Amino acid sequence: MSGAEYVGRFAPSPTGPLHAGSLLAAVASYLDARAAGGRWLVRIEDIDPPRELPGASADILHTLERFGFQWDGDVVFQSQRLERYRELLADVSPHTFFCACTRKQLIAARERLGLGGDQYPGTCRDLKLEDGALRFRLDQPEGFVDAIQGAFAVTATSDDFVVWRKDHLPSYQWAVSVDDVAQGITHVVRGVDLLATTPRQIALTRALGGKVPHFAHVPVLVNSDGQKLSKQTQAPALQPDAEVAQLCAAFAALDMPVSSASTPDELHDLWLWAIRYWDAKRLTNKRKIPFVAPP
Ligand code: GLU
Repeated sequence: MSGAEYVGRFAPSPTGPLHAGSLLAAVASYLDARAAGGRWLVRIEDIDPPRELPGASADILHTLERFGFQWDGDVVFQSQRLERYRELLADVSPHTFFCACTRKQLIAARERLGLGGDQYPGTCRDLKLEDGALRFRLDQPEGFVDAIQGAFAVTATSDDFVVWRKDHLPSYQWAVSVDDVAQGITHVVRGVDLLATTPRQIALTRALGGKVPHFAHVPVLVNSDGQKLSKQTQAPALQPDAEVAQLCAAFAALDMPVSSASTPDELHDLWLWAIRYWDAKRLTNKRKIPFVAPP
């Protein structure tokens, strides 16, 4: 594949410093892009102020630099694109409707109808309301084939999800889809925790007239209780001055042939080694990797 055909990205939310779990997602998307001779973009997804930590964006970018990641072009901050997200709602208006349900009402309706997860009970679908959260009508969410996880079948028969929140902010689904289309992203490589959101993003991409990217969902690191490493599970921040050891731990977690005898111990050469040895196929069908702290 020639580089011009591959545009990847890493899109962290600045809810805290990078940790071993987010490093793994960054490493996988970077290696996949570079091994294909492609471009790799960084996008800061800072559209949910209540969940964000002041200074986290700068900290994440600084950490990426310290680890030797080299992104193409300027970093995009979603907080600077709110106007664009709002404008583009007009393009998908045939598919959207207002929903006035509170969280409590949604839970009660789901219970009544025996619906699972965060499925929408359809309450406001045909009411033609003029205010509330804006939902995208998805009658039959489609499955897709993931490069690592294989065929992902969707069991829900409908999934009307929020694109614009009641508090006047774009939803994650909307901002991520608008930007992936706007930035010409051809390959999305990210954690398997986002696998189930993909049919929504595929539907939005199509409605926006964009080309659906290839998806590869890499396994996530889990702690000894089997929980994904995240801010909520108190994942420790990455340590300064131990970049090589932490990268080697990430490469080993990604099933690459790390060996103390032959793997370079200098950052620049280590990346060249990793780009040569990257093979997403080693991760086929894997969803969880136990986290092992680097020595
Ligand atoms: N911003 C999302 C997160 O940090 C990731 C978005 C994506 O990769 O699609 O969980």
